[in-house]
Order: sequence, then structure tokens, then C-alpha cells
Amino acid sequence: MSFESLGLRAELLRAVTEKGYTTPSPIQQQAIPYILDGRDIMGGAQTGTGKTAGFTLPLLQRLMSPTSAKKGRPIRALVLTPTRELAAQVAESVDSYGKHLPLKSTVIFGGVSINPQIKKIRDGVDILVATPGRLLDHVSQKTVDLSQVEILVLDEADRMLDMGFIRDIRKVLALLPKQKQTLLFSATFSDEIKQLSNKLLNSPALVEVAQRNTASERVTQVVHPVDKNRKRELLSFLIGSQNWQQVLVFTRTKHGANRLTEQLNTDGISAAAIHGNKSQGARTKALAEFKSGKIRVLVATDIAARGIDIDQLPHVVNYELPNVAEDYVHRIGRTGRAGNEGEAMSLVCVDELKLLKDIERLIKREIPKVVFDDYKPDPSIKPEPIQNGRGRQTAGKKHTANNNNRRPSSPHVNKQNRSYRSAQQAG
Ligand code: AMP
Repeated sequence: MSFESLGLRAELLRAVTEKGYTTPSPIQQQAIPYILDGRDIMGGAQTGTGKTAGFTLPLLQRLMSPTSAKKGRPIRALVLTPTRELAAQVAESVDSYGKHLPLKSTVIFGGVSINPQIKKIRDGVDILVATPGRLLDHVSQKTVDLSQVEILVLDEADRMLDMGFIRDIRKVLALLPKQKQTLLFSATFSDEIKQLSNKLLNSPALVEVAQRNTASERVTQVVHPVDKNRKRELLSFLIGSQNWQQVLVFTRTKHGANRLTEQLNTDGISAAAIHGNKSQGARTKALAEFKSGKIRVLVATDIAARGIDIDQLPHVVNYELPNVAEDYVHRIGRTGRAGNEGEAMSLVCVDELKLLKDIERLIKREIPKVVFDDYKPDPSIKPEPIQNGRGRQTAGKKHTANNNNRRPSSPHVNKQNRSYRSAQQAG
């Protein structure tokens, strides 16, 4: 299938060709025709599937049809994303796919001055990409008018709910016209997502793609059993001995990310941390330096890493396993993209064996274990509860049971009562 056959206009096809894409990705093949038809969409897809172009291209095309707006240049499309990084990335896509069209867009997120944003909006934009918090700041300052929005996109809706944005989202929804096209994308489908979509979507078309990388042959997964207090040493050894130049490392907490970053730098391995307590400037700088190869290791928490698009990332290391098994899938989705081979390593100590079991159950396979002779776990060390960084201690079992409640694994979506396999299950 070609982009031409999807019925996209010449300016968009030109932009796509300039990006070097020749074939629409599965989510694009499925979603674009529905969106062009004006249908609501319930999309099961995460970053890495090409979902951004999947909604941006048809959205731009629809905005090229004349507006019924009386005067001025009202905001006609609103894209909500959970994180600043994702907002910036989506805005970049809107710019590049729309570069041959006379449409204007801007992006607003917190952590930076609001005044330049106010000016841009005042000058008139057709498409606004926003994080919910900063959008509501603009609403309360009356610097944004959402009354003429024709298309709403909720990108990574599950993550927005996880991050506690549901009330903000409801407030935003109340400001939008009832009559509009809504596109909701989510990697997982919890009860909360189902409730939201039932309220929000009108006979949605379901589009889903198997999560790339879940059971992907492109990603080699391996577990290295190791004692907790020797993980840092093993990580430095792995990076140094194999001369890795670009590694994304996940920790469970912001504090853990900072500490590991300092230790790696002490070991002579250039590293930077990216997490929610870092200023926007520091996050952007760290990401840019990582992408350009100036630093070798980016240490990230799950939320900060979500949605970051780094092409061809060869190595992902789970320095600590995530508490939520699905986050493992998101993490390893950072590697082996765009047809490249990737390697995902997990350093697992005795405290984390229960979490590992949950992950293996979710991905429906056992991950091979490789023990390094010099880093054999000491069998006399007993498991301890996992520290979560917020003064909370979690015993593995109880915690995972809670998480399973939070994100049920056999979701059932939508008014037509069609069952919707979660992306994980589809993999
Ligand atoms: P996304 O899932 O939207 O974050 O996109 C993941 C990556 O795939 C981005 O780097 C896109 O630029 C790229 N991409 C999107 N669509 C295509 C396509 N049809 N062919 C090749 N690469 C694509």
C-alpha cells in the first residue's frame, strides 16, 4: 500500500516523501481513511508505531476544508499529550508534515515562560498542541479560546490518566464544542480509559496494532541476575567492556536516577539524568546531548522517557525493574526501532524476582538469564521490600496485585461491545 492510495493531498504526500517514508505503517493504513472520513477513533498504539503521522496527516487534510468560523483564525484542532517532550515532538511532526500547507500551529507546555505562548496564540493558530496543565493556565488567563475546536486528539491517554490529569482533561472537555471529531490513542485500556472513551467517543472505529517490540524478534532481551549493591559496577562494566556509545538506562525513582548519573560520571562514563524534577531546559539539553552522542548514557524514569523518540537506540538497560509490568514493554520499546536490532538488558536483584515473574507472564515468555562469573548473586542475601522513593515500601506481591487492578489485562471496550485486546495481548 502507498500513501497516495490513502487519498492524501499532494502537499502532504510531498512532505511524507521528503521525510523519506515510502510505505504507510500499519496504524497509518488503518487510521488515516477513518479519520479522513470524519470518524472518531479509538487507537491502540504506542510511540514507535508511526501513530503521530497516523493522526497528524489526516488532521491536516481535514483542516484544509473551509472553516465555518465567523472571523479570525480560531483554534480548530487541539492535541493533548501527557509530557512536554511528547508535546514538542508532536508539534514538530505537525510542522514538518504540514510544511507545504498554509496552516499554523504552536505548542504550549509548562516549565517555560507563558508570554511567548500567549503571543503565538494571539497571532492565530489552527492547531494547538498542549499538555493539560499549561493549557488550563491559559484558559484561566483567558488567553486561549477552545470554542471552535473541530478535532480533538488525546495522545497517550493512558499515561495522562496515570499522571493524574483526568480532572484537567474533564475541564478541557467542558470547554470544547459537543460536535467534534475525537481521536483517542492509548497503549493500554484500563477501566478508566474505557469510561473516558465511552463518554467521549461517538461510534469510534477501533484501530490497533500489535505492539512492536513486545515479542519482537528485533529486540534481544536478557536478564543479568546481580546483587543490588553491585548493579552500578556491573553497568559500568557492561558499558565499558562492550564500548557502548548510546545507552538508555531506566531507574525507578528520580533520586535513583540522579545518584546513578553521578556515579557513572565518576566512573568516567558521561551520563545525564532526565526526570520530572529537572527543568525543561535541563531535560531538553540532556536529550539533545544524548542524541548527538555528546553523552553516552541517559538515565531516565518511566514518565520522563515516555514518548521520547530516539531512532535506532541500540541498548536499553533496566537498572531496576518497573513496578508496573506494562512499563517494561514501554521501556524496551525504546530500542530496536525502525527495523534496527536492539538489546534490552535487565539487572535483576533478589528483591525483584516477583516483578520479573509478572513481566514474563505479561510478555508470555521467559527472558533468558545470563549470570556473569564475577557478579554472581550471593545466595545468602534475602529479599527486601522495594523502596519506591515516596516513602512507600512495597512488597512485590501486594503491589502487583494493585497494579493489575489499575490496568486490567483483558479489557473490553466501546459501545458496540466489541472486545478490544490490549496492545500487550495483541503482541
Ligand atoms: P511515532 O510512533 O509517531 O512516534 O513514530 C515513530 C517513528 O517512525 C518516528 O521517527 C517517525 O518519524 C517514523 N515514521 C512514521 N511513519 C513512518 C513511515 N510510514 N515510514 C517510516 N518511518 C515512519
